[in-house]
Amino acid sequence: MPDITHDTATPVSARVRRITAPNPGRMTGPGTNTYIVGEHELAVIDPGPPIDSHIDALVDICAGRLKWILVTHTHRDHSPGAVPLAERTGAELIGNIIPNDGFQDVSFNTARPLAQDDTVGNDEFTIRALLTPGHVANHVCYLVEEDRLLVTGDHMMGGSTVVIVPPAGSMKDYIESLERMLNYDVEFVAPGHGDLIAQPADEVRRLIAHRLKREDKVAEALKQLAPSSVKGLVPTVYDDVDPAMHEWAALSLHAHLLKLEAEGRAVVADELWSLQA
Ligand SMILES: [Zn+2]
Repeated sequence: MPDITHDTATPVSARVRRITAPNPGRMTGPGTNTYIVGEHELAVIDPGPPIDSHIDALVDICAGRLKWILVTHTHRDHSPGAVPLAERTGAELIGNIIPNDGFQDVSFNTARPLAQDDTVGNDEFTIRALLTPGHVANHVCYLVEEDRLLVTGDHMMGGSTVVIVPPAGSMKDYIESLERMLNYDVEFVAPGHGDLIAQPADEVRRLIAHRLKREDKVAEALKQLAPSSVKGLVPTVYDDVDPAMHEWAALSLHAHLLKLEAEGRAVVADELWSLQA
């Protein structure tokens, strides 16, 4: 697997290079991955946070050839570099926008929203948009078709579980988006954080199974503890997860409960959850 690099771009496939923003952390791993597609005319996917050294590096690498800036979604570690990079390069901003739930980068704007299977590209490459709501409602993955490389933002990450924050995030949508990925011919997944993922179909099936197993634990905890608040269920449902992460786990737990509610399996009254009798 190619090394994570912060100063230079590292090839990850025939047409795609990766440079990682210097924003490492618990939620971002080694930092946000920015992908650069093409050789003569370039596309950047997820410019990341607006850190000067990172934007400078992107401007240098692109050297007057940047035509498109695409974002997978508008969380603050993925898109705020887009507007400053566009101002310095004249590239077109592409991606979808949702109302701010307190987690969105409101600086991002676009003249070009994306529908399912829209494409961006030239005679060197085709980037196909796969709408993947779940982590957040406006999430898009980008398939670089010639390289069979799928840039997945926060839809799939290397080695960690994606947080689902309702209402902009939805567990039901997330699992359905994972299932739809299996319809596409992908050799490698290029996530927003961490390294490339090989044999992505196996990993997608593993992720779906992992979420459904967690859902079983939610149903089991409700059986024992209902009526319970979301917070009251966390230690039981996430007994295998570091307590330092429980605040984030509570968000995904809420997403599981909303999925069960939508399926008629759970009910909520006064913020206390129970199994549907
Ligand atoms: Zn995100």
